[in-house]
Amino acid sequence: MKVCTLASGSSGNSVYLETSYSKILIDAGISLRQIKLRLANIGVEIDDLDAVIVSHEHSDHTHAINRINVPVYVSSNTTNIWKDKVFNLMEFDSETTFEFNDLTITPFSVPHDAIDPVGFTVDDGNKKLGIATDIGSVTGLVVQKLKGCNVLILESNHDSEILSYSKYPWRLKQRIKGRLGHLSNKQSGWLLESVFNDDLQHVILAHLSKVNNTPEIAYETSYGVLESCGAEQINLCVAPRNTIGEVITV
Ligand SMILES: [Zn+2]
Ligand SMILES: [Zn+2]
Repeated sequence: MKVCTLASGSSGNSVYLETSYSKILIDAGISLRQIKLRLANIGVEIDDLDAVIVSHEHSDHTHAINRINVPVYVSSNTTNIWKDKVFNLMEFDSETTFEFNDLTITPFSVPHDAIDPVGFTVDDGNKKLGIATDIGSVTGLVVQKLKGCNVLILESNHDSEILSYSKYPWRLKQRIKGRLGHLSNKQSGWLLESVFNDDLQHVILAHLSKVNNTPEIAYETSYGVLESCGAEQINLCVAPRNTIGEVITV
């Protein structure tokens, strides 16, 4: 299993996942041109893709889904938004595991201010990737679903203190830190601690705010959690906003 982020943050999100029989994107929230350019860095062409699966309808996750000529899987509760716009639209139920080629994909509901937002685990029969960005709070379901992953992509959106002093309007601050907004570094750390397991090999911190966080603070917070678990050897990295991230092979 090979995993890398193509973009991460409020200006666009996309994760590339490659297994023996599948090449997919999880979200496609940047331009088609940028997706092509970033995939080219790892020798992948857009025509090599087999599918896109979509976490929720926000544009930072869906910007290019109407331009990619592969099956695009969206939650059945959001099909109406896309049915006249997206070629080759497919749907999944947000509570039901489905198969795609060699992948077993399990969506799970997350608290976020979208119609039917989900995180995913993707299992190729050998390794398991868990991805949860755009979650306002950590729920029992999120913890339950993310257990036993080898690779985790977790939101670490903001530092609560930087957010409290930032120039963002009051209403936007309330949205970000609210139950349906985004995870702070500390909340992300709690989530990591809750789902930590001995098979975990890589953690990618994602969807960092450009204004209300720094990669260093996000990294330090989660590194502290790994240290307390006696697991400093786990590869921890921060997904860059506008370039391809570290290519992880497990
Ligand atoms: Zn987002
Ligand atoms: Zn969102």
